[in-house]
Amino acid sequence: MKVVETIAEMRKLRLKLAEPVGLVPTMGYLHEGHLALVRQARAENSSVVVSIFANPTQFGPREDFKQYPRDPQRDLALLEKEKTDIVFMPSQAEMYPPQFSSWVEAGKLAERLEGASRPGHFRGVATVVAKLFNIVQPTRAYFGQKDAQQAAVIKRMAADLNMNLEIVTVPTVREPDGLAMSSRNIYLSPEERQAATVLYRALSLAQQSYSQGETNAQTISQQMTALIQKEPLANIDYVSIAHPETLEELDKVNAPALVSLAVRIGKTRLIDNVVLE
Ligand code: AMP
Repeated sequence: MKVVETIAEMRKLRLKLAEPVGLVPTMGYLHEGHLALVRQARAENSSVVVSIFANPTQFGPREDFKQYPRDPQRDLALLEKEKTDIVFMPSQAEMYPPQFSSWVEAGKLAERLEGASRPGHFRGVATVVAKLFNIVQPTRAYFGQKDAQQAAVIKRMAADLNMNLEIVTVPTVREPDGLAMSSRNIYLSPEERQAATVLYRALSLAQQSYSQGETNAQTISQQMTALIQKEPLANIDYVSIAHPETLEELDKVNAPALVSLAVRIGKTRLIDNVVLE
């Protein structure tokens, strides 16, 4: 496994990789969710590149960029075990030199849900992912369903800008009690960790309600909201039932529908989703 810190070196090594090449973009502090992406990339490609870059431009001024967890040595040991060919770990200065000034505007899709709560977030995501695609030139790139809107934005960007690669979405990996794995789970105290199961409990309630014949989106989101409000440590940011590609809110649920939510547990903001099928 080669660990590369510069764009020039990454490009040089890229030329020697066996095709097809799978890319897994991450911000590091890896867990089983990230590793599921790496394993799928390994199974479907001859070469695997994983990037580790906590991208400052996707964090808002009052967000957790400075304290975002980092453990590169542990990350590298995990990636070595998964037979990663190249780990691309650029510095902030390598990705954003002082003269940097071009951005990918992610458009309408980026204004809803996460975009409404985190202005500029998807502009940062789309820009850094476009840069990674240009640097690595992968055949396929892998994204988690956990960040469903991110995957939708990236698919839209790749299609709109005629990027020559396939975007693959990988199912969400959960803890045994249903909590979606996330680097941010480390922020939770034991009491908050327990309270955090409310996200998946609310999503499961939506699935149950829909499978029993409820198709009124407002009714389902009210049921979810009532359940979350019973949890004293939880504060709802949004609960949404939307079309999985356009992310437009639905009145009546026609499968497939993306049920997503953002909830603050103490100071930690968590997101999760399921697709009603
Ligand atoms: P991050 O390091 O948070 O930017 O995540 C890197 C990639 O891993 C993104 O495509 C995420 O959607 C994906 N990912 C994060 N957590 C999970 C999870 N629990 N299950 C599946 N994919 C995940």
